[in-house]
Amino acid sequence: MHEQLKSFLTRRQIPFEELVPMAKMTSFQTGGVARILIRPANEMQTACLLKELNRTGQDWFVLGKGSNLLAPDGMIERILIRLNENEPAPRQMGDEIECAAGYSLMKLCRFAQSKGLSGLEFAYGIPGTLGGAVFMNAGAYGGEMADLLVSCSFLLPDGTRMTLSAEELELGYRTSLFQKKKAIITGAKLRLKPDNGLEIETRMKEFLERRKEKQPLEFPSAGSTFKRPVGFYAGALIEECGLKGLTVGGAQVSEKHAGFCINKDHATTSDVLQLIEQVQKTVFEKKGVRLECEVRLIDRY
Ligand SMILES: Cc1cc2nc3c(=O)[nH]c(=O)nc-3n(C[C@H](O)[C@H](O)[C@H](O)COP(=O)(O)OP(=O)(O)OC[C@H]3O[C@@H](n4cnc5c(N)ncnc54)[C@H](O)[C@@H]3O)c2cc1C
Repeated sequence: MHEQLKSFLTRRQIPFEELVPMAKMTSFQTGGVARILIRPANEMQTACLLKELNRTGQDWFVLGKGSNLLAPDGMIERILIRLNENEPAPRQMGDEIECAAGYSLMKLCRFAQSKGLSGLEFAYGIPGTLGGAVFMNAGAYGGEMADLLVSCSFLLPDGTRMTLSAEELELGYRTSLFQKKKAIITGAKLRLKPDNGLEIETRMKEFLERRKEKQPLEFPSAGSTFKRPVGFYAGALIEECGLKGLTVGGAQVSEKHAGFCINKDHATTSDVLQLIEQVQKTVFEKKGVRLECEVRLIDRY
């Protein structure tokens, strides 16, 4: 498998790993083994890789930190791509920050705080990358990425680079253009507001404390499992249906926060998916509300 691709990667010095356990690559800590995981060092390598995959007709899936992802059990044949987390470092220009998509959102929050720039506090505690946050239009405590985004750069499957303004990104509740247009987000520009660094830090700490108090952070999960249905809260609906503590294999509806499905004890992805289905079915039968899954699934092929 992938012999030609491997020799291409070696020739171009694009880092890759084989037989990667997905439990290490996703916050749910479930799933099988990826045949190949490619880790381009920078945007140039990512573009070069996409051109080659496009030329040879091979499909791929890009992941961030895997904090909103379920990987299938068993062998994953699909080519997985993960961007470099460290390069290049974020850059401040006045009240704007430009940052690479692979960069940790938590680190970016701290960077903004250190520059006395406010607006990202809500994201402190969201354990993903900037790219994943743009893809999901991640949000919490009344804030979301859409409030800050100025523009976003990305690569199309043929390796062409594009930049779109925030208005063109179709940002909505936990959605963006990228959920229907296949691309690799490579960077984004955010506009923040100058503020006192200590006050920003206080707000960040407060949000983190609220998370620790309300969320089952002691267990692996992907955060809220379901999107908030219009007019309801997913967690409250699930609790009212008596589903707290419902268990399938090693997966469980958290006793602490019913909106979280957790990996209680060596769960498989199949356990989690069956649990999600049972919750959706019961909530629909008892409450007439369809819960849409927020967590995304990597396809096996
Ligand atoms: C404890 C916990 C708390 C959480 N709290 C919140 C919260 O408060 N609010 C919230 O919105 N989310 C929350 N999440 C979910 C998750 O952290 C966010 O959705 C996050 O933005 C996902 O980023 P990621 O880098 O991990 O993306 P991944 O999970 O790796 O990927 C998610 C999707 O984004 C796509 N993607 C990732 N990077 C790129 C890229 N560079 N280009 C194109 N597509 C890309 C992937 O293909 C996938 O479809 C939480 C998760 C956990 C575990």
